[in-house]
Amino acid sequence: MQFRDLKKQYDVLKPEIDAGIQSVLDSSSFILGKQVVELEEKLAKYVGRKHCVTCASGTDALVLSLMANDVGEGDAVFVPDFTYIASASCASLVNATPVFVDINLSTFNMDANALDEAIQRTIKEGKLTPKVVIPVDLFGLPADFNSIVKVAEKYNLLVLEDAAQGFGGMLNGRKACSLGDISATSFFPAKPLGCYGDGGAIFTDDDSVDERLQSIRAGGKSPYDKYDNREIGTNSRLDTIQAAILLPKLKAFEDYELENINKAASWYTDRLNGVVITPTVPDDFYSSWAQYTIRLESKTQRDMLQNKLKDEGIPSMIYYPRGMHQQQVFKNMIIDDSCYENTCKAVDTVLSLPMHPYLDEDTVDMICNSIIDYLK
Ligand SMILES: *Cc1c(COP(=O)(O)O)cnc(C)c1O
Repeated sequence: MQFRDLKKQYDVLKPEIDAGIQSVLDSSSFILGKQVVELEEKLAKYVGRKHCVTCASGTDALVLSLMANDVGEGDAVFVPDFTYIASASCASLVNATPVFVDINLSTFNMDANALDEAIQRTIKEGKLTPKVVIPVDLFGLPADFNSIVKVAEKYNLLVLEDAAQGFGGMLNGRKACSLGDISATSFFPAKPLGCYGDGGAIFTDDDSVDERLQSIRAGGKSPYDKYDNREIGTNSRLDTIQAAILLPKLKAFEDYELENINKAASWYTDRLNGVVITPTVPDDFYSSWAQYTIRLESKTQRDMLQNKLKDEGIPSMIYYPRGMHQQQVFKNMIIDDSCYENTCKAVDTVLSLPMHPYLDEDTVDMICNSIIDYLK
């Protein structure tokens, strides 16, 4: 059994994907070819934003977003404590400082009250200027933008949505990747919309930010002359081959994959409700289920269940085994464990189960029976 079955997806989409790759080989237009332009137009339209700028990875999408907004030394960037490292390291990569914020245990996403407290602590310490908040749409569920945006407005922070896991999610009918002032996503193969290598994209409605992003991803070029350089940029573009792979995958995502993965989530929840703590999708939210993550009663119970599943050939993952405040790389920051009670609970009790749009009901049954059997 696969945790996320990419081979199955390829079997279904093989004719379109192979033809797409072949057409790039025939055109020899490997960098910023017409498939990249077509993909950017389709992605912007899908999420409901004016501009989409593709780039080399989700990490770069976050870094480029910060660069295009002149975030740097002395700036505090507020990130959830429970997330993948790139949500926090993007701040360090532009010489700003990540400040960690505890999560809401039922959604696994940033808690707006904890954000307000972290901002106030930072102001009181007087060393950093609060500048950006990065709400993460963890496991496919949009962050609580309704409350977070209010806090951001109060302190005049830029809202950078980390939608690396969030593509396809929705809040109040608005799509993920349109929920921040600027939004970043990833096309890493196992994300809700993945390519066959690394890739990412940034979304904005702001013409001047769009122009700067286009420049920064290509060496800091000016809009009209590639060799007239106006600022320090990097090289971070999406390969045309990856765009050609993403085009048919985006169509499948829109046509049936997002719906199918929501079906798989409901099969899990039907069977596991009351047995373990199943994931919560609050009213007005819609998840794209990058992960289906349950919680157990204790670390011992979680670890033993994972071992039992493994013995039965069922893969599962611990996303994530530690909070940002517990990461070695941030150990020189003075951090008080008591600020991260919910993260500390989550890291000990979470378990992510096999999840993808090609999962069938019998397989979900088998996995759930194994869990129920163990907990009896
Ligand atoms: C995967 C991920 C990223 C980084 O994306 P890459 O394409 O792997 O660089 C950033 N944030 C979150 C929450 C992620 O899950």
